[in-house]
Amino acid sequence: MPRGRHLTLQTGSIQRVTLRLFNSLGRRVEDFTPATDGVVRLYSCGPTVYSYAHIGNLRAYTFADTLRRALLWKGLRVEHVINITDVGHAVAEAELGEDKLEVAAARERRSVEEIAAMYTEAFFTDLASLNILPAHHYPRATQYVEQMIAFAERLVERGFTYEIESGLYFDTSKDPTYGQLGLIDVSGQLEGARVEEVPGRQAKTDFALWRAEAPGQLRAMRWNSPWGWGAPGWHLECSVMSMLLLGEHFDIHTGGVDHRQLHHVNEIAQSEAYLGDGQPWVKFWLHNEFLQLGSAKISKSSGHILTVSDLAKQGFHPLAYRLFLLGGHYRAQLEFTLAGLDSAQSTLRRLVRRTSALGELPLVTTADEARAAAGDDAAAVAVIDQIDDAISADLNTPRVLALLQDSLRDQTLSEAGQRAVVAACAAVLGLPFGQLTPADLEQASDLPEVDEAAVEQLVADREAARVARDWARADALRAELTELGIQVTDTADGPTWTRLG
Ligand SMILES: [Zn+2]
Repeated sequence: MPRGRHLTLQTGSIQRVTLRLFNSLGRRVEDFTPATDGVVRLYSCGPTVYSYAHIGNLRAYTFADTLRRALLWKGLRVEHVINITDVGHAVAEAELGEDKLEVAAARERRSVEEIAAMYTEAFFTDLASLNILPAHHYPRATQYVEQMIAFAERLVERGFTYEIESGLYFDTSKDPTYGQLGLIDVSGQLEGARVEEVPGRQAKTDFALWRAEAPGQLRAMRWNSPWGWGAPGWHLECSVMSMLLLGEHFDIHTGGVDHRQLHHVNEIAQSEAYLGDGQPWVKFWLHNEFLQLGSAKISKSSGHILTVSDLAKQGFHPLAYRLFLLGGHYRAQLEFTLAGLDSAQSTLRRLVRRTSALGELPLVTTADEARAAAGDDAAAVAVIDQIDDAISADLNTPRVLALLQDSLRDQTLSEAGQRAVVAACAAVLGLPFGQLTPADLEQASDLPEVDEAAVEQLVADREAARVARDWARADALRAELTELGIQVTDTADGPTWTRLG
């Protein structure tokens, strides 16, 4: 079947607008064309299960879910894989150093397997609470080590590797296109970056395919390989599991923007070296931006973790957080504030009140189903066309939310038309109107107002006192904040604060 540039016919229906997505590879918006059989094969980098997912991590899965719903909306089928990294790798950019799963196991006095199982379950609970469609496969890295070794052996045969004391490394100098995705200028870009010294490594961009045990070291999770006892490199996991489950080439790879510079660059290098067919391994790379907490980036390594259940303890429904995320475009940095979340919760409450008054909603997944549900209400069909335009324009969810709010106020729409519009928005936004009731949101009580500017000032004053080593004043300011129900946490990136439950 010839591959046209536009989606024209899918299952007999006309696609009025082509889905356009921002491809990190080339950094431009492009028409998305799926593989020949109408099944989009989608891979999203999953969590390393050594702690709870913080709300910033969950932005990546909410984004992948929005993408998946947009594909379904366009009448495509989707095969989705999210991996579970249950082999502890060190911090993302480090090849050496402590294994995070082992550190967690020691801290919590459990085995590494228990730690991985516990946090994997917690991850699934978080996904369900955010109404994220379950992936079709959640491959565990520990189940694929044999295949990872075979993959690395082929790279050895093809001359892309060298072995040093700390393991088997990918030789990036053998890959003339290395770093394209990250726009990395190999000669200079990494010089100033935080890259650890690895004795014997030939270039800072070279990365471990196999991490060998240091003499005398005995990992809790260890496998034998042609390069000695040890564990696979982190990047290797995703290449191997995605190819095994989705085929050697697949349609879309997603992840947080932090993966664009290193993890995904390395995945591409080793996969294209492995395949050696001169074709791009994956055509579309999509990345969501960070969630910012105050001025500090939320990351697991900063030691400050804010989870969905923390938010629930503070009276916020998880879907209010989903709505908060959808209120920003996935490629825009989003500043997380409790005031912002509060306002998202008020919006959700209002939407649920209005939509549940409409009675039972039609079952809608695709644009065509939504148009059919609107029947002969031309105004409603026009709104559904606008929803289609918005979601097809690189997933413009803020616009879809605005259309939903407008149409609920629109007196010219019939009740059936309004129901069709709400069902369409529920489908693309993943907010289950029709199932959510006002009572679901009642438990999520409103918090007393907090003057964020005043809190920021107190936090800044306390930080200034700490810098000046005026501990008495710093303690007094902390006490004042505690009285206001604010908890301050000092991180490597500066202080952050949250409201106590
Ligand atoms: Zn990955």
